[in-house]
Amino acid sequence: MLIAFAWWSVLLYQKNRDAYQAKVELLAMGMAAEGKYHSDDHFYHSQSYLELTKKYQRQEWMIFGEASVFIISLVIGIWLINRGYNKEIEIADQRRNFLLSITHELKSPIASIRLVLETFLKRKLKPEQIEKLGNNAINDSERLNELVNNLLLAAKLEAAYRPHLEPLQLDELTEDLVEKMDEKFPKVQIEHNIQKGIPLINGDKMGLVSVITNLIENAIKYNSSTSPSIKVTLKEMKDSINLTFTDNGIGISEKEKKKIFQRFYRVGNEDTRTTKGTGLGLYIVDQIVRGHQGKIKVLDNRPQGTIFNITFPKNKLI
Ligand code: ADP
Repeated sequence: MLIAFAWWSVLLYQKNRDAYQAKVELLAMGMAAEGKYHSDDHFYHSQSYLELTKKYQRQEWMIFGEASVFIISLVIGIWLINRGYNKEIEIADQRRNFLLSITHELKSPIASIRLVLETFLKRKLKPEQIEKLGNNAINDSERLNELVNNLLLAAKLEAAYRPHLEPLQLDELTEDLVEKMDEKFPKVQIEHNIQKGIPLINGDKMGLVSVITNLIENAIKYNSSTSPSIKVTLKEMKDSINLTFTDNGIGISEKEKKKIFQRFYRVGNEDTRTTKGTGLGLYIVDQIVRGHQGKIKVLDNRPQGTIFNITFPKNKLI
């Protein structure tokens, strides 16, 4: 279509020039018949010739302008259609990935709890075996519970999330959660640098718990280092309260950084991925931080890993 438009413009331009030349010849003949044609120089300076030429030049600019508008509109149209099409494909891909991962995430703990119960019924077990299997089943049920909570929270966030604000001591809440995570993941080193005496803030406790646990769990999950190390920092600045999560994990490429906060988005492909997840964690984190008028940034850690930096403006929270 672009070529057709360009060709049409060239043809129109040529036809206009031909018409102009024909009109010039006709004018010259008319003037000669009336005895007004004395010389070429006199003809090219005559009022009629100058008006004709001016009109021709105006028409030339009009053709050029119209052709440009058509071609630019067409290019913008093609670009918009292409962008919409690519977005649709991306959304369909994410939905497919989400369905695959959610099916797996729901089925595997259910299957393992069932196996434990069947083993209890069929076999006589020693007390230490019962304890081990029982603990496995509890961990699986916790995983299921977390998943269902994340799904419910994501659904709630979609239908206009309003944080349930209450006075909170963010330093105590953060330290508490870091300690819980430290117990849950004994192989990972979780350091913290939490400033004491941070002013009381108005925050949604359940939401902020979800932010902190999601970011620590991700820092552990996306870490293939032989000595995984995570650092949580909470600091009061002049106008804000800053909460930072630093890890030495696999890192996130620049391209992916723009997408990871989208609902259902997971880096890579479900068929090849080995980590568990639904792509809801960072979506929830981002929505809750926004609900507190805060901002979240993702940066590279050196030499490797990721930094998630959350800034809560003091004038909105205190
Ligand atoms: P999920 O963990 O369920 O896949 P999230 O929304 O929590 O979903 O994360 C989205 C994607 O961002 C993950 O699939 C992962 O690839 C990437 N990601 C999140 N946190 C980190 C991190 N700390 N280091 C590296 N990659 C991360």
